[in-house]
Amino acid sequence: MSDAYRSMWAEMGLNLEAHDVLLGVLGNSYKEIYLAQKERPEGMGYFDFVMSEVHGLRIKELLDEKAAGRKIVGAYCVFVPEEIALAANATLVGLCSGADFAVEEVEKLLPRNTCALIKSAFGFKLGKVCPYLESADMIVGENTCDGKKKAYETLGHLVKNLYVMDLPQVKSENGRAVLQAEYFRFKAAVEALTGVTITAESLKTAIQTVNAKRKAIHRLLALRKADPAPISGLDALLANQVFFYDNPARFTASVNKICDELEKRIAEKKGAFPAKTPRILISGCPQAVPNWKLPFIVESSGAVIVGEESCVGERGTRNLTSESGQTVEEMMAAIVERYFQVDCAIFTPNAERLAHIEEMAADYKADGVIHYGLQFCQPYLMESIPVEKALEEKNIPCLRIETDYSMEDAGQLKTRIEAFVEQIKG
Ligand code: SF4
Ligand code: SF4
Repeated sequence: MSDAYRSMWAEMGLNLEAHDVLLGVLGNSYKEIYLAQKERPEGMGYFDFVMSEVHGLRIKELLDEKAAGRKIVGAYCVFVPEEIALAANATLVGLCSGADFAVEEVEKLLPRNTCALIKSAFGFKLGKVCPYLESADMIVGENTCDGKKKAYETLGHLVKNLYVMDLPQVKSENGRAVLQAEYFRFKAAVEALTGVTITAESLKTAIQTVNAKRKAIHRLLALRKADPAPISGLDALLANQVFFYDNPARFTASVNKICDELEKRIAEKKGAFPAKTPRILISGCPQAVPNWKLPFIVESSGAVIVGEESCVGERGTRNLTSESGQTVEEMMAAIVERYFQVDCAIFTPNAERLAHIEEMAADYKADGVIHYGLQFCQPYLMESIPVEKALEEKNIPCLRIETDYSMEDAGQLKTRIEAFVEQIKG
């Protein structure tokens, strides 16, 4: 990394030594997991570049935007509407962290039995290694699971400008009213931050920008239905992860370019894996950068991942916001409508998620489903049992995995996944 980046990180208050360690680990695992793959689409070169510059060029772009008067909003959850941030002249970046860091320090503030995702968010702050977190003018937390809800009380002492969104837990009319009120409160908070009042015109443009990004991802996901699968699950997951970081217009153009290439591959019957490779749907907790552990194990065990029922995947991107509204109120209602369909496991009851998993398994012609639950994540681990039961009733094999970010159980997971792949083949 250039000296200019090092001074940029130092000025942001990063711990350069710790940050070097993080970049070293990230670079090595990217090389071993991503660059070692065979038959990758050429268009993935763009994502390789994005990842090589994830703490470099992209951060410089964000700092340049700040210098030009834009504000940066960091978010931990897909319930934070990017449309509202964009319409008020702010850029939204995902903060959900996918690696353990500063674990000892974290466990002074959080119980050991907290999910890896929450611990990671704290570790990145305490270790001073996340330039996204440090560049954010507003950090949005949300009352979703109990772990996050209580953790934000502590995080509020560590970060500046923490804003907590109160999300409903039930898909009722009351729940919808709560979401609507919270989105209007968020709109007012972002407007106060940027000094820009959202207009019908700016909100319409923002809705179109985010929809374009989603449509590009929908196109990519649809192409994964082909056999042979034209792209690996690892590469598709990376596109879903970069969705949260990149400039929206550039991301949309790059994903569409990859889709053009994948269409040609499908026509030529060329795949990332041979035809008839067992096809897996992953369902469960979000897999944030650089959490590539499970897909790496699955795809080096003789199977290909063809879909992710996850917030870093189809749960997060599946629905568009209606573009038909003319007034700010109509468009805000459309935003509420779109996000109210997200079937996170924090909702009760949550039959929609079960139906969506079954629908995805059929659409993507999955031979089996791996339910991915992070250790200590009550909502998803609780739901994994009815999910397994429902899938088995439909004769769809299901494997429930409970893990964290460490590699300690990698050997054991590989043995279980290989046995599952053999069972599917049989
Ligand atoms: S799993 Fe639930 S809490 Fe987590 S990012 Fe998704 S919607 Fe938000
Ligand atoms: S993975 Fe589970 S426990 Fe962790 S933040 Fe998400 S919903 Fe909460």
